[in-house]
Amino acid sequence: MDLKNKRVLVVGLGKSGLSAAMFLRKLGARVTVSDARSAVAFAKEIPALLDAGIMVESGGHGLLTFRRQDLIVVSPGVPMDTPEVRQVIGYGMDVIGELELASRFLQGQVIAITGSNGKTTTTTLVGKILSDGGLPTQVGGNIGLPVIDLVAGSTPETKNVLEVSSFQLETVVEFHPQIAVVLNITPDHLDRHGSFEAYAGAKARITERQTAEDFLILNAEDKPAQMIAAKTKAQIYWFSLRRPIKQGAFVHGESIVFVPREGAKAEPVMPVREIGLKGSHNVENVLAAVCVARLAGVAPEKIRGSVASFKAVEHRLEFVRVLNGVEYFNDSKATNVDATMKAVASFPRGIHLILGGKDKDSDYAELASLLKERVKAVYTIGSAAEKIEQQLSGVVKMVGAGTINIAVREAQKAAVPGDVVLLAPACSSFDQFENYEHRGRTFRQIVNELS
Ligand code: ADP
Repeated sequence: MDLKNKRVLVVGLGKSGLSAAMFLRKLGARVTVSDARSAVAFAKEIPALLDAGIMVESGGHGLLTFRRQDLIVVSPGVPMDTPEVRQVIGYGMDVIGELELASRFLQGQVIAITGSNGKTTTTTLVGKILSDGGLPTQVGGNIGLPVIDLVAGSTPETKNVLEVSSFQLETVVEFHPQIAVVLNITPDHLDRHGSFEAYAGAKARITERQTAEDFLILNAEDKPAQMIAAKTKAQIYWFSLRRPIKQGAFVHGESIVFVPREGAKAEPVMPVREIGLKGSHNVENVLAAVCVARLAGVAPEKIRGSVASFKAVEHRLEFVRVLNGVEYFNDSKATNVDATMKAVASFPRGIHLILGGKDKDSDYAELASLLKERVKAVYTIGSAAEKIEQQLSGVVKMVGAGTINIAVREAQKAAVPGDVVLLAPACSSFDQFENYEHRGRTFRQIVNELS
């Protein structure tokens, strides 16, 4: 792709937009960035952009800015139905995302991991297994470095392990992973994708360009996976917590096993109890990672050692402390109902659950039966509190806490030895916090200051 002297517009100046703009400039393109926020929001970045010879438009998008381009690169944070973007797509202009741009330049193998939940955990774990296994590995995408920043370090031997979101997949054209993973598809981001079908459709695009030489790893317990399986040309490897699999990974008795191809003998990989992460959802993540690692050529004994020494990623069902016999867990990254269900399902009973934040058009009533079984009280916080209280009224004891600080203190008062205080809010954080990390750190700090 020769971009020398081409006019390229980058829409959205987040971390990946900034990297994309700099990358394009180095290729000799005439780059403009446009962001709807006022210049104050990215005052820090402006001097470097101008120094690099990049034009900056802030406080909105001018339609003329969009018309005068050879290529438009849209950041994952910018909805594709932004009026200007929709309009230029209508004109037939070339509109792609950062993932698509990067994948046109990235060398080596692409291992792409998507799903509603578990992406970061699984991507981090796969990265660890492959690099422990001695393979030249880079990890990026939705976590850590933007994919475009992996281009410079890639060689034909590199394993590029990418966490990709549904937003990034919306804008792919030639993106072609040799190994693709769809961990699960459960409702999330319906506020932005419009419908579950549109959301599932975006995830399915991960396999669109795959051929019979490629591999697609799918969850046998996930219904939408069947729809993706019906469409793909890739070789499918299934994983399952519950049943034997003809080709892929599953739990057999107390152990994880892998079947390298239909009809072959199952290889033992490791005992489930050696996994250092809580919850059966994390066993699913390990099963998916085992498939990737075996397909990339890492030996089962090596995989076993890497998985056993892998600790929870920060804010993902992270253990904080035990105080007076009560355990505190930070699952601030549980930003949708399914992740919260998985968190609650990881503890048998005695849970004090902190729920709430900014609602994403979610249905909290889905939590009802699990809460009844395991949760002693729910402490609501943030702007979704009222909706949660309505949808779950009469199910469990509800405490309208308002803030995380009051929620933790009320939970501490009520909890008895053996109980668990769990932050797994099922909502995004933007009403009261900068992001889920900020919410998780705040929770940890409050918990660590309890006496
Ligand atoms: P993502 O990057 O997809 O958001 P994370 O690994 O950051 O995934 O985990 C997000 C949330 O989902 C956390 O609350 C975590 O405990 C939970 N989770 C992790 N793996 C799974 C899974 N396979 N299924 C459901 N929930 C999961």
